[in-house]
Amino acid sequence: MNNHENGASGEFILTGISGSPGICIGKAYLVDREGVDVVEKYFVGQHEIKSEINRFKNAVKKASTELSTIIDGVPEELRDNTYILETHLLLHKDKMLYDKAIEIIKKDHVNAEWALKKATSRAVRMFKQITDPYLGARAADIEHVSDRIMRQLAGIDEVNISGIDKRVILVATHLTPAETSQIQLNRIMGFITDHGGKASHTSIVARSLDIPAVLGLETATSVIKNDDFIIVDGNQGIVIVNPSEETLLDYTELRRRYAIRRADIIRSGELPAQSADGILFSVMGNIELPEEIVGVRDNGGDGIGLFRTEFLYIARNDFPSEEELYEQYRETVELMAPHPVTIRTLDINGDKEIPSLPTPHEANPALGLRAIRFCLKKPEIFTTQLRAILRAAAHGTVRLLLPMISGCEEISESIRLIDSAAESLEKEGLQYNRDIQIGIMIEVPSAAILADAMAEMVDFFSIGTNDLVQYTLAIDRGNPHVAHLYNAMHPAVIRLIRHIVDCAKAKNKPTYICGEMAADPINLPVILGLGIEELSMAPQSIPEIKNMIRRISVADTGRLMVDVLKKNTVSEIHELIKNRFGDMLYSEIYAR
Ligand code: PEP
Ligand code: MG
Repeated sequence: MNNHENGASGEFILTGISGSPGICIGKAYLVDREGVDVVEKYFVGQHEIKSEINRFKNAVKKASTELSTIIDGVPEELRDNTYILETHLLLHKDKMLYDKAIEIIKKDHVNAEWALKKATSRAVRMFKQITDPYLGARAADIEHVSDRIMRQLAGIDEVNISGIDKRVILVATHLTPAETSQIQLNRIMGFITDHGGKASHTSIVARSLDIPAVLGLETATSVIKNDDFIIVDGNQGIVIVNPSEETLLDYTELRRRYAIRRADIIRSGELPAQSADGILFSVMGNIELPEEIVGVRDNGGDGIGLFRTEFLYIARNDFPSEEELYEQYRETVELMAPHPVTIRTLDINGDKEIPSLPTPHEANPALGLRAIRFCLKKPEIFTTQLRAILRAAAHGTVRLLLPMISGCEEISESIRLIDSAAESLEKEGLQYNRDIQIGIMIEVPSAAILADAMAEMVDFFSIGTNDLVQYTLAIDRGNPHVAHLYNAMHPAVIRLIRHIVDCAKAKNKPTYICGEMAADPINLPVILGLGIEELSMAPQSIPEIKNMIRRISVADTGRLMVDVLKKNTVSEIHELIKNRFGDMLYSEIYAR
């Protein structure tokens, strides 16, 4: 991070990574989500035991009151969702937690925090041993409840994002994708974090909410105070703290111009993405929730190229039923008809853990039990989703997309489960459609290398460059310390994509791209030159990319690629793009 101070005005600039474009100006609101990390153990004398138990009981009482107030504040129309909180309320006095903690204080003569920690880990361990996912999910509930009591014992107030009642800019060490997806747009203008990178799921959610975000600032939470006036420039990835009057005026003008330009581009979103030499491309939208379809339609998307279904599992403490999933998918498919909807099966873990089934600790979650690996290990959870997808496919054009495939067996095993889901639906006399396209995400180098074999097994490829770049270059997509090395224009990535497209073409299969790479105009000449037929991205990026496609000649991009493939560094490749497409591209990029 770069920290540049202008002594005269007290203004200083923090440099991070652009998470989501746009400019917002307002007051900082610090979110302390660190909670209580370190629990100290100390002994309490015999004569202090009674008061230690009372301290514990008081904390439980306060935690319960706090939770009841939150429940009472939930608007009537959202009351259906409070049952999880009500379960937590009951757990405050649960024998395993409440009675056990008191027993430990008495028996071991230890402080309340330590006793609670011990009681919690014992209960969590017990629940985690249960293989039933619904009961297993109780472990997460116990942890939430214990956290709340622990904060009371330590005297730390919880910051409840959904409870923020003024228009602010969030400043946090990090926000999880689930927390980000709960941001209320009428309250939160934008957010900045110490951790996170451009391709992290948190910034993906920010882009889909269409709010400016700067991530990876490293020290934002230490140097910014509550109510500090800040400017978030999501276009350049910088934050200006305590801006001078002059800076404020400049930025107010910049924000106005940016809004006008966005409005112009959005108006052109409906026009087809036909290149200057007449080749028609599909530009689709990536969504996390069915509500985002409006954004795809308003921005002129030609369909849904990626429906990240895990978000329907993340914001809750149990698993959705087949019926719920079916309703959600059917709604999406019907709203998007006649355009296709590409439903990606559950891609959880990595940086998207679901509360209903916390996984055991993994040293490297990105290389762990993620996505298809999780689904094949939990066929009952996978089958529920597959049945819902096949049923929704009876109502429009559905493509099924399998994430994080790394070997051919995963494809054959998945197809076997899809077939058996179809058979069971047939037997039960439910309406479904098995005649759908099945594709795989190419996001692991082994899949790219085996693309020729895999192309024979599926109907299409969709390249997930967020992960493909991460796994090919060995760069954690959410780690700010290596974010400067994360680049989709790396020659190794480009050559890998060339190989994937060539293998698919040889088997007459199309290749699409749905990673964030597709939304950055600077990459566009290379993407078109590589022979990608369809691009999918956050809905707000669709009009801009369509606009640029209309100005590019695909024949020119083909010529560009001959030279790009001879280059060995990112900077040489950028230089080439700049020389050939600079006039057009850079005027667009810098106008952002
Ligand atoms: C990708 O990896 O590029 C992708 C689109 O999937 P996700 O970002 O959800 O991992
Ligand atoms: Mg991915």
